[in-house]
Amino acid sequence: MTERPKQRKIEPHRRDKTLSEEHFRLIAPHLDEAFWLTSPDEREVYYVSPKYEATLGRSRDKLYADPTSWIESLHPEDRQLIREIAGTRGPDIDRDEREGEYRVLMPNGTLRWVRIRSVPIFGEDDRVVARASFAKDITDRRALRSAALHDKLTRLPNRAMLSDRLTRALDRSKKDPQYKFAVLFLDFDRFKIINDSLGHEVGDLLLISIAERLTANLRKNDTASHLSQGHLAARLGGDEFVVLLDDIRETSDATVVAECLQTALSVSHPIRGHNVISTASIGIVNGDCTYDRAEDIIRDADIAMYHAKNAGRARHVVFDERMHQDAVDRLQLEEDLRGALDNQEFSLAYQPIVDLESGRLTGFEALLRWQHPRRGNVPPDQFIPLSEEIGLIVPLGAWVVREAATQLKRWHDELPQDPPLEMNINLSPRQLSQNDLVETIRRIIEETGVSPESLKLEVTESAMMESPERVTCLLHELKELGVKLCMDDFGTGYSSLSCLHQFPIDVLKIDRTFIINTDNNREYAAVIHAIITLAHTLKITVVGEGVETGGQLAQLQALECDAAQGNFFARPLSAAAAETYLKGPQGLAKSA
Ligand code: C2E
Ligand code: CA
Ligand code: CA
Repeated sequence: MTERPKQRKIEPHRRDKTLSEEHFRLIAPHLDEAFWLTSPDEREVYYVSPKYEATLGRSRDKLYADPTSWIESLHPEDRQLIREIAGTRGPDIDRDEREGEYRVLMPNGTLRWVRIRSVPIFGEDDRVVARASFAKDITDRRALRSAALHDKLTRLPNRAMLSDRLTRALDRSKKDPQYKFAVLFLDFDRFKIINDSLGHEVGDLLLISIAERLTANLRKNDTASHLSQGHLAARLGGDEFVVLLDDIRETSDATVVAECLQTALSVSHPIRGHNVISTASIGIVNGDCTYDRAEDIIRDADIAMYHAKNAGRARHVVFDERMHQDAVDRLQLEEDLRGALDNQEFSLAYQPIVDLESGRLTGFEALLRWQHPRRGNVPPDQFIPLSEEIGLIVPLGAWVVREAATQLKRWHDELPQDPPLEMNINLSPRQLSQNDLVETIRRIIEETGVSPESLKLEVTESAMMESPERVTCLLHELKELGVKLCMDDFGTGYSSLSCLHQFPIDVLKIDRTFIINTDNNREYAAVIHAIITLAHTLKITVVGEGVETGGQLAQLQALECDAAQGNFFARPLSAAAAETYLKGPQGLAKSA
């Protein structure tokens, strides 16, 4: 107490071999950490390096006077943490190595992050002779690390941080059977359409707004249901978000939170003068110790989300094991599909289209068929969406055009008909965004020698409405090849009749669902009549699809529909059967 603390030397009995304060003073500038040396029990300070003052924002004198005073420079929460840790230390306290990252409250009010490490120094006889503590400012490194763990746009934790937290939750669930957690996978309905139609900036602002609502609502749920503080909302990328519900009481808590989030998220987001609405489809996994890896939980939540979306959007679905089997099957189908083109497992069926005035065949619609080596015939409704997803539709679609054009050319040559037989070919939405579609079709026309005006390319109404301007442009380019265009599935795509004139189409196909109802519903008949009248004004031919009964046929005839297609006339036929049909009475083909 009497002499100035700074003058102290290290224990005198280690005289010759021991470093003195003078040595420390010489070494200190070469270390980028602050350090201080104390007695093993930390009651006495032997030396404090000059960097201490900059790193912990307190004077060295203060530490010399009170060896534990460095703790006072920490953020109150971290101070508390240190006290708690100290309370759990065993009897071998002197021999402990300690390390922690703490927030330091600098005198100017700023916060810095500091890593503090403290190690015992052993003498020759394995006795602890001193304790050395090191402090390093890691604020910048933490900022970098934080940037690596957060999504730049929304500032939410990213996939890396989510994986880390999930891994910890899994570890805990293996040790503590009482501990429960859940994972919610959120995907936003119609996000792509919003992004494409209102622009990426609005899309980005929407994502930020979603992130804010998620965070605010999780905080609310924390206090409302006394859930723990450990919930986390992360953004995986695109419009995919994941919520980790940490330490929940009941597995049903997850569905309660999902409902609450869905309500909060269904309110429109005011962005740049638009009221943007994007509901969430949510997949839920109740985490337990049967999982080994964080990715597996995210995968299963994703699978459940997919089911929620398919069930009609803005819903939540809890994962169960069967869904996993479904996903495995789907993956297998996907793999088989990739090989199917090379293995020549595809063929075309041809369904007759009949002129309603003359009763004569005008052409066929080419419909794709997949003969799977084990599963047999796989319906197009199953494999076409899948081949869209995996991008196979581009080569497959080109194959369809080539095959149908080749067949039509052969029939034109061998069984000429006046007017010439036509071929309707379906184009999928994904093909429409393919850069070289026009070029591909131009080349096929050239190589097969088919007359382009006999080809009718069908595009569904919903595909046209997804981005009307872009599609209109493309349709004009296609028309320049000389082909005709047909709007398919009309009545299912939410376009209004007033949109009809903007697309350069020659044919309109009224969807089957309308035709079915003409039998017994007058309103439907009135709607169809309005469609036909308008189409005729615009010089568009109308085809009724899926005619199954004589009643439906009579109704369409009464409404002055131009042509029809359906099982009442013929089911889709193999090439050979179509040829027989062509030679039959409806075909009226003159033999060559
Ligand atoms: P779509 O273009 O609307 O084709 C008409 C569908 O209605 C065909 O189903 C046809 O078999 C069915 N159909 C015809 N008449 C009747 C009837 O009287 N009653 C009933 N219930 N159904 C009838 P399919 O062949 O199963 O094809 C389903 C869908 O798959 C097609 O609907 C089309 O969207 C798509 N598709 C088929 N082939 C191709 C293709 O080559 N490319 C693309 N992109 N899509 C295709
Ligand atoms: Ca069609
Ligand atoms: Ca159709």
